Amino acid sequence: MKELKIKDIKRIVVIGAGLMGSQIAELMARFGKYRVTLVDIKDEFVKKGISGIEERTEKFFVAKGKMTPEERKEILSLIGGATDMDKAAATADFVLEAATENIGIKKDLFHRVDQSAPEHVIFASNTSYLSITEIASAANRPDRFVGMHFFNPVGVMKLVEIVKGARTSENTVEVTSALAKILQKEPVPCQDSFGFLANRAYIALRMEAVQMLWERVAPPAEIDKALKLGYNLPMGPLELGDMGGSWSLYASSEEDRIRELGEKGRLHPLLRLMARAGYTGGAGKKGIYDFYTEVLSKW
Ligand code: NAD
Repeated sequence: MKELKIKDIKRIVVIGAGLMGSQIAELMARFGKYRVTLVDIKDEFVKKGISGIEERTEKFFVAKGKMTPEERKEILSLIGGATDMDKAAATADFVLEAATENIGIKKDLFHRVDQSAPEHVIFASNTSYLSITEIASAANRPDRFVGMHFFNPVGVMKLVEIVKGARTSENTVEVTSALAKILQKEPVPCQDSFGFLANRAYIALRMEAVQMLWERVAPPAEIDKALKLGYNLPMGPLELGDMGGSWSLYASSEEDRIRELGEKGRLHPLLRLMARAGYTGGAGKKGIYDFYTEVLSKW
């Protein structure tokens, strides 16, 4: 079979029109001038993903003079929506999946698109924690299957981890890295490992910050301040956790984490307590800073 080259990529299918898929589709049309089809299970989700692109490109670029209305029009003209994943994949050169973080969902959809996508097509998953090797097992192209892990907000964060499954070919890594560069990102290749590079190391940092709070070494703002100033981080791990709203879920199940990371993966008692008390973090919700002020500091 002929190996795919970066110049052969013309049409991209992005599966999952949520927070990540919609931003990634925007980037592909904006920097790569690719024809992009944004796919989701319901028409309303596709429409929401596309209207997000319409709003962002107006608010952050055209209104600020960073893009002309003509450029915005061109970007929007390159992006289409669909709910028929099989039909969309049939004309694709590259499929990027950014669907819900669930191994069953991801394996099912790749098994499906594998039937309709042409042989040369590379499949990539934006999973944050799941095994690329395991997701790849659902499709019959393990050499053309790779992790392409973007970070939120996609337009701002430079890193894209290029995750090699057990049988991912070098050509697939090269083409996917080249695509990341076209999208103005810095690709960093790595082997398949729970949380890959950045999230895996960040779990440890975040857990230590939570443990310091539990031991009352310092209040949350002081812990964050020390880490920001000491390591030149733009945000502290505790404020970032409150912003992201993933304290209780931690973006992966405890069972998965313990299986992959051993005891390091266990949910901290403070986070369990916060979850039970309804302090999850996230937009408009109380998080670890509030929990410290309202509960922990009074004990
Ligand atoms: P999201 O919930 O905003 O969007 C997921 C979308 O996938 C939803 O619109 C849902 O309807 C759709 N979907 C579910 N099953 C589908 C199917 N079978 N076919 C098509 N669409 C389907 O989630 P998100 O935050 O955009 O995350 C998507 C992926 O990106 C996850 O794997 C996540 O771990 C990863 N990720 C998320 C972030 C983040 O900060 N949110 C960062 C990096 C990677």
